[in-house]
Amino acid sequence: MLGHALNPHCAFCHLPRISGYPLCEHCHADLPWLLPEQNQPLSNHVNSLSAFAYRPPISNLLLGIKFGKNLHELATLGELTSTGLLPQLEQIPEAILPVPLHAARLHKRGFNQALELARPLAKQLGVPLLTDVIRRSKATQPQTELDSAQRQYNLRQAFQLDKPLRHKRLAIFDDVITTGATTRELASLLLNNGAEQVEIWSCARAILRQSHELTP
Ligand SMILES: [Zn+2]
Repeated sequence: MLGHALNPHCAFCHLPRISGYPLCEHCHADLPWLLPEQNQPLSNHVNSLSAFAYRPPISNLLLGIKFGKNLHELATLGELTSTGLLPQLEQIPEAILPVPLHAARLHKRGFNQALELARPLAKQLGVPLLTDVIRRSKATQPQTELDSAQRQYNLRQAFQLDKPLRHKRLAIFDDVITTGATTRELASLLLNNGAEQVEIWSCARAILRQSHELTP
């Protein structure tokens, strides 16, 4: 990466970074990498893999990105996500589908953080990012304001297939998985429309209940 080549310092502190990597050894070791046994499946049919537990500094970075503060850190976090997920993959999907934002929210924010975070991973794996297959057809209420049952109802028919699926094996990618309600809804839609295998990947996964309050 040209940006890193020009900057020999860690993206998080003043120490020299690991060659070809955005962070120094200390910051790399301090990240809340998710343990393999914490990657519980979200349902019988849907496997789930995340790079990190939703804890600082990852949670702070994600919130900063969402509110448009630390946009330059999107690329760094995308690279770290790729570093955490790649060794966990048992097989490579045909394509990655970042969870879409509703058009109004995308317009307001200017970017979809799930898409941006998935870019380094898609590049490393050499698979396409699907951005025009699924549309978020309903502006859902913020999930933080709802309990688990309300979340499921809130998400019903939140997504719509815009064109026929051309891939059978897909990975859905989201920035954060909390209850998994959003991604499960999307996985069902894909599986009901020709997908044969769907995994859910994310940058971070909330492990503690109180973490729900901080996520979308
Ligand atoms: Zn550092």
